[in-house]
Amino acid sequence: MVLALLKYGLRNSYPAQRDIITATDLKPSYDVVIIGGGGHGLAAAYYLAKYHGITNVAVLEKGYLGGGNTARNTAIIRSNYLTDEGVRFYDESVRLYQGLSNEFDFNIMYSERGHFTLAHTDAALRTSRWRAEVNKHHGVDSELIYPDEIARIEPTLNMSRNVRFPILGALYHKPGSIARHDAVAWGYAHGAAKRGVELHQKTEVTGLDIQDGRIVGVKTNRGDIKCGVAMQAVAGSTSLLAKMAGFKLPIRTIPLQACVSLPMKRFLDTIIVSGSLHVYISQSSRGELVMGGSTDPYTLYNTRSTLDFKEGLMTHMLELLPFLSGVRILRQWAGMADMTPDFAPIMGETPIKNYYIDSGWGTWGFKATPVSGKRMAETLATGKVPDLIQPFSFERFYNFEQVGEKGAASVGH
Ligand SMILES: Cc1cc2nc3c(=O)[nH]c(=O)nc-3n(C[C@H](O)[C@H](O)[C@H](O)COP(=O)(O)OP(=O)(O)OC[C@H]3O[C@@H](n4cnc5c(N)ncnc54)[C@H](O)[C@@H]3O)c2cc1C
Repeated sequence: MVLALLKYGLRNSYPAQRDIITATDLKPSYDVVIIGGGGHGLAAAYYLAKYHGITNVAVLEKGYLGGGNTARNTAIIRSNYLTDEGVRFYDESVRLYQGLSNEFDFNIMYSERGHFTLAHTDAALRTSRWRAEVNKHHGVDSELIYPDEIARIEPTLNMSRNVRFPILGALYHKPGSIARHDAVAWGYAHGAAKRGVELHQKTEVTGLDIQDGRIVGVKTNRGDIKCGVAMQAVAGSTSLLAKMAGFKLPIRTIPLQACVSLPMKRFLDTIIVSGSLHVYISQSSRGELVMGGSTDPYTLYNTRSTLDFKEGLMTHMLELLPFLSGVRILRQWAGMADMTPDFAPIMGETPIKNYYIDSGWGTWGFKATPVSGKRMAETLATGKVPDLIQPFSFERFYNFEQVGEKGAASVGH
C-alpha cells in the first residue's frame, strides 16, 4: 500500500483526469447557448446532455467557471420553505444533492447537519409552526422544538433568558446540509464537458440577436454566434441581460456578504440561523466557521466587503455563541444577489421566443442548483415548462400570483 502510494505520487502523469476540459474556439452556431457558467448554467448544460442527448451546447462565461455567486455562497441546503410550491421544488433539489457525489463519482462533500431556524418572538414561533405543518404535509422532516430540546441537540448555543432576544423555540429541519460549493460547479462542468458540451471562459455576452421576437444568436467579446435556443443564468447580472433582450424584471441587485473564521477543531455540528439577530453560522469540514447575515441595505453592482457588515454580524453572533469572542476572522467577501419581491426565483419563458431565464436566486439559489438545472434542461429540450417550475414564471408578477417565501428566508433582507 505504502509503496503503491509512493509510486503513484512520483509518476509524471496521473491516471485520473485532473482538469475540466474547456473549449478554445467558438463555433459559428450551437443548438443551445447558456449564458453564465455558474452552478445553474453548468447544471442545465449537464442535464441537457445527460437526459436529452443535446450536446451541441456552449456555456459562455465572462470570468471563470463557478466564479460568481457559486463560489461566494455559504453552501446551506434545505427544503423547509413556507409555500407548497417552494417546499416541493427545494425538496427535489435536496434529493438530487444527496446522490450527487455518487452520480459525479466526485466528492462534493455533502454533509447533513440539521438546520435550526431560531424563534425569538411569538410571531417567529407562529411562522415556524406554520412552516413545520406545510413541510410535513409534503413529507419534509421539520418540526417545532422548544428550548430543552434545542439545548440537547446543540449544547453550544447560549440559551440564557437574560439576553436581548432569548431563544423561545426553533424550526428544526434534520435534512439541512452543507456541501463544497466549488465541487458542485466542478462536478457539473466536468460531467457536461465529458459529454461534449463546450465550456468557454472569458467569453462575455455583450448583446443578443433577436429577429421577429425570437432569439437567433448572441454577440460576445470573441465574436457573434448563432443559436436555436438560449438561456441566461447570470445571477447578479440578470437585469443587465434582460435589458439586452428588451424586457424588464422586478429584480434588485444587492450585495450579500459573508465571512469565515480561522479553522478550529469541530465543535458545531448543526447549522444555526436567527432571523431576529440577522445571522447564520455553520462549521465547514475544514473547521472554519462560515458566517453570514442580511443583504446590504442598498442596490449595487459590486462585490466589495465592508467593516460595517462585520461589526454588526459579530455583535449579534456573540449573543448566540459568546465563547467565540477571541476567535479571528480569516476572510470576508461579497456576492451580488438578484432579489425578487416575493423571495422566489424566476424560471422559464420570457417575452422573447426561445430565450429562457433562470434567475431571481437572491440569497437562496445554491440549494436549488440541481433541481433548476434539471428542470430548465427539460424546458430547453422540450419547449414545455414542467409543472414543478410553472409557479415561478415571469408572468406571476403581472397576474398577482406571487409565491410569498419571505417568511422562509434565512435572515431578514
Ligand atoms: C454571500 C452569499 C451567501 C449565500 N449563501 C447561500 C446559501 O447558503 N444557500 C443558498 O442556497 N444560496 C446562497 N447564496 C445564493 C447563491 O450563491 C446563488 O443564488 C447561486 O450561486 C446562483 O447561482 P448562479 O449559477 O445562478 O449564479 P453565479 O454563480 O453568480 O453564476 C452566474 C455567472 O454568470 C456570469 N455572467 C454574468 N454576466 C455575464 C455575461 N454578460 N456573459 C457571460 N457570463 C456572464 C458571471 O460571471 C457568473 O459566473 C448566497 C449568495 C451569497 C452572495
